Amino acid sequence: MVWTAVAAALLVLCGGVAWSLTRFEARREALTAPPADLMIQPGVSAAEVEAVKDGLRAADRYFRSALGRGVDERVEVRLARERGCRWPMSATGPATAWAESHFLCVNTMSPTWREVMAGDPAAARSIVAHEHVHNLQGQVGCRRSSDEHEWLWLFEGMAVHLAYQAMVAEGRWKDEEALSQIRRWGVDDPQLGALSAYERTGAGAGDPAYALFHLATRSLVQQAQGPSSLLAFCREVARGRPWREAFAGAFGLSVDSFYARFEQERQRVVGRR
Ligand SMILES: [Zn+2]
Repeated sequence: MVWTAVAAALLVLCGGVAWSLTRFEARREALTAPPADLMIQPGVSAAEVEAVKDGLRAADRYFRSALGRGVDERVEVRLARERGCRWPMSATGPATAWAESHFLCVNTMSPTWREVMAGDPAAARSIVAHEHVHNLQGQVGCRRSSDEHEWLWLFEGMAVHLAYQAMVAEGRWKDEEALSQIRRWGVDDPQLGALSAYERTGAGAGDPAYALFHLATRSLVQQAQGPSSLLAFCREVARGRPWREAFAGAFGLSVDSFYARFEQERQRVVGRR
């Protein structure tokens, strides 16, 4: 009898802990284009909600006009005010933003988010657009979890490049200024390796790595048939085609030829020739 009571008490306790870890107290606001449910925690400002909505809409418009499709299935978009969006958090604390096929998280308490909201509203929108590219990758079927990457630089490069171009299409940024952003983010960082070193890991290097991925994807799209080649690649990979084959099919050159060509272009951008 006593043990039954102890077991029952433990169950209630564990249930309570699980509930407090997994619940996400928020008000819901539905968006139709793209189809999304915003889950907004108390304390998130109206300007932040607008930035998230604008980022989603800009991405959606750009995807539909440049790629011919958007994120069609509903996405839950959490705007977290505390402790990130979902338990368990990563060891380094909650990321600024992250996404899965039907889920997008913006951690409004992260220093990066607070900084861009204060000084560069287009950058805040581009963070959301970047994550929405990951939603698209997920729904098309080419999203990879962090331990499964084979073409990481292109997976992240696609997100940075399409998010940048979405801001260009909205008139918030200029296409010809992409290179200055890429330089500002530290593409000349001497710690960065060859692009070919970033197939499986390396996003942890932060802004300089993302600058490199942006430059590479931008260069790839320019020499291929425009941004829809990215979607063609994603679809082929989703069908199970090995990525190097899918790459050659979508972009019209082998991965190794691209690497060789890109490293020369990179030297010109970085300015050490
Ligand atoms: Zn990303």
